[in-house]
Amino acid sequence: MKNLESTDYVIEVKDVKKVYKMGKERISALDGISYSFERGKIYCLLGTSGSGKSTLLNMMAGLEKPTSGSIIIKGRHIEKMNEDKLAIFRQKYIGFVFQSYNLMPTLTAIENVTLPLIFQGVRKKTRNKAAMKMLKAVGLEGRLKHKPSEMSGGQQQRVSIARAFVNDPEIIFADEPTGNLDTKTTYEMMDLITKTARDNGQTLIIVTHDTEIAPYADAVIHIRDGKIEKEEINRNTATDSSELFEENTEGEN
Ligand code: ADP
Ligand code: MG
Repeated sequence: MKNLESTDYVIEVKDVKKVYKMGKERISALDGISYSFERGKIYCLLGTSGSGKSTLLNMMAGLEKPTSGSIIIKGRHIEKMNEDKLAIFRQKYIGFVFQSYNLMPTLTAIENVTLPLIFQGVRKKTRNKAAMKMLKAVGLEGRLKHKPSEMSGGQQQRVSIARAFVNDPEIIFADEPTGNLDTKTTYEMMDLITKTARDNGQTLIIVTHDTEIAPYADAVIHIRDGKIEKEEINRNTATDSSELFEENTEGEN
């Protein structure tokens, strides 16, 4: 954010372009995006469907390569890393929350949450303890042995939030994390994700088309046709949905 003195940038995006080739057609999904994300802040990438939000998030998470431009995380050019390096980098520094939860259907809640720790070689006792603690923090201590199909959408998203946060990554990306949830559960999830990120000093970047999510963010980046249309700095961020309801009563229907 330009108006703050600190320049401790955790992610720097420099003139990133992404062109998809579909047969003879070329689709420009990102058209020169530049932005620097500060450590420990919450960002919202806001835009309508097809504006390029997920493409940008996937580039920053190292899931896709830009056509041109660079993405520097913790001082390292991730667009130049090979798949093996990227996988290790992601395991170490990045947590991801998806709209469709992306849980392993055959695994229980606690097994799903321990997965990132297994990849990191954490011993069984330690990882079970960490997973248990996270599931308790998201209010699911009574559902440890449940499989995804035995839980509601909100509960599944809680498991996926616990999984994203369990190894305390520096950066959390969330792509439409409340896209499949009702209004009440949306606010519960937003309270939970943003509080956890703030408590741990993590950088959180949330992609959404839902303007109701914007008040939680320190900065809202409006994306349109693969470009940044404008940036809004939020000086009075919401930390709890009850504040939103108090301030926002006329907007309700
Ligand atoms: P958003 O997340 O904002 O809804 P996306 O980033 O998913 O938008 O998509 C931006 C544009 O890029 C859209 O026009 C979409 O159709 C196109 N697009 C996204 N992924 C691909 C792909 N793998 N192949 C071709 N076109 C794609
Ligand atoms: Mg999307």
